[in-house]
Amino acid sequence: MKITGINVRQVEVPLKEPFRISLGVITHSRSAIVSVETDEGLVGYGEGAPAILITGESLSGTTDVIKAFEKDLIGTDPTDLEKVYWIMDRAAAHSGCAKAAVDMACYDLLGKKSGLPVYKLLGGHQNFMETDITVGIDTPEIMAAKAKKHVEAGFDTIKTKVGTSFAEDLARVKAIREAVGDDVKIRIDANQAWSAKEAVRLIERLNEYNLELVEQPVAYHDIAGLEYVTKHSIVPIMSDESCFNAKDALRLVERRAIDYLNIKLMKCGGIREALKINAICESAGIEVMLGCMAEESNLGITAAASLGAATKNITRADLDATFSLTDLPFKGGMYVEDTKKLVLPEVPGFGFIGFEE
Ligand code: MG
Repeated sequence: MKITGINVRQVEVPLKEPFRISLGVITHSRSAIVSVETDEGLVGYGEGAPAILITGESLSGTTDVIKAFEKDLIGTDPTDLEKVYWIMDRAAAHSGCAKAAVDMACYDLLGKKSGLPVYKLLGGHQNFMETDITVGIDTPEIMAAKAKKHVEAGFDTIKTKVGTSFAEDLARVKAIREAVGDDVKIRIDANQAWSAKEAVRLIERLNEYNLELVEQPVAYHDIAGLEYVTKHSIVPIMSDESCFNAKDALRLVERRAIDYLNIKLMKCGGIREALKINAICESAGIEVMLGCMAEESNLGITAAASLGAATKNITRADLDATFSLTDLPFKGGMYVEDTKKLVLPEVPGFGFIGFEE
């Protein structure tokens, strides 16, 4: 099988409401949806959803990079994943979103060609992932009301964004804990808002309300600070923005700068690199969460859920982006059962069907 062309379509879907994190506000899902065409008539689909606040990438830039890959990839067998990845890495540095889109489409083709769902190709540990749901930054009252509604709907883990001021964050976490009761897990994400010493102090106070974990307390580049927080915090610490690829993961693991790690396909460039990150973590006894960008649609979420379901060391999922969309741009892929369970269909590839017209 050979790649004959790569088409890119830019898709924009408004979120049901603006989503605020400590770094800024997100109002739309914007992604480049690729279809990789082959000489055998099979088409693979993938998505690159640039999150400019996190990765610095834009939709037009992502589209340009995918177009730049096209000329080098034509004639290549899309199921030769190592070769595809090598070609992309030589053509462009970084560019996780563009690489993730093509990587996803090639895994879709590998599944279609072999007749297996991607979650089975990746290990087949199970065929579903249970996700948390995230509450964006707002007043404590509004955040508590949203958290309560999610728990009543069936979610058992609330991820809440924090990182404005200590008094506000404390009020937020207190209000959410009081609204959801003791049995619900609360994980918090500061998106780099704190200094290391500040983080240790704040986490101790916030843990009065029993936190499951804290995501990215300090600036992404402050690895010494992250290590300090991990060594001094009673609550487990998870990296997000501090780890884009396997090299970052190795550095964090060597220093024992984290307790857990959050993989996102849009940061690392797709499933192939994500498997390497997970292998490093698993070898060190560090569990992984599979996260997503707020900009992703059901294509990216399906790919991430497939990897998470397939892999035993990926024990947590923060794959809630599609719940915030006013519309799903694409038919097929994962479906939701019992509110929080993302189930992978028993069809070859990811089970994508095509655009909603
Ligand atoms: Mg995060």
